Amino acid sequence: MLDLPVTEIFSSIQGEGPYVGVRQIFLRLPKCNLSCPYCDTEIKVSEQFRVELVPGTRIFSMLKNPIPLDELLDLLQTYDFSKHHSLSVTGGEPLLWVDELQVLLPLLKEKGIDIYLETNGTLPVELLQILPMVDIISMDLKLPFDSRTFWDVHEAFLRYSTQKEIFVKIVVNQATTWKDLQNARDLIARVDPAILTILQPVTPMQGIQAPRPQQLLEWQSFLLERIINVRVIPQTHVLIGQL
Ligand code: SF4
Repeated sequence: MLDLPVTEIFSSIQGEGPYVGVRQIFLRLPKCNLSCPYCDTEIKVSEQFRVELVPGTRIFSMLKNPIPLDELLDLLQTYDFSKHHSLSVTGGEPLLWVDELQVLLPLLKEKGIDIYLETNGTLPVELLQILPMVDIISMDLKLPFDSRTFWDVHEAFLRYSTQKEIFVKIVVNQATTWKDLQNARDLIARVDPAILTILQPVTPMQGIQAPRPQQLLEWQSFLLERIINVRVIPQTHVLIGQL
């Protein structure tokens, strides 16, 4: 049986996108293939990971990393999924662990647990390997940074994702350019103009500033020229002090 390093497991309130407010179990996995300037997530593999055994108490136990998949399955089954919308598989970038997820996710699906995948949308080949087991895909569409662009991998990823429930999040800040937004808009519209698209104002950090109110209004109108459903939703878990 394979094992898997974990960052943390806890019960919380989804803070981003159209499912904002639903209660989920979060399975956060380490490592990422990107290094976004606004990243606020711990991605290193630690010798131990923390787990909230009783949901909502914020009392954590420490377990050894990596954890065998059968033990992880047992652990996840201790949660009452009648009171949780789904299991958010998040990171880091969870698709870096596709070999392990190919084993784990079918077992979770057998137990009737819905899988909500949070991904940076840059690993389309890996996505294909677990796509049948995923119910909802929350895909980040990364605007260029550090002289890197992701348009081609994003387009492939998005085309595969349309087999499932999918929405796209674009994190924007005060320095976001019209050119990048145009490329993002046209990419989404090429795949399917009906894909729900979220403009997510960055939570300010390290000199990165949130967009001005007028920018958000103008950008939403601009995206709506080619995409049918564009919403502006900030990171709400930050506002209400949730993990
Ligand atoms: S993709 Fe997510 S986890 Fe990875 S660096 Fe960017 S914000 Fe951080």
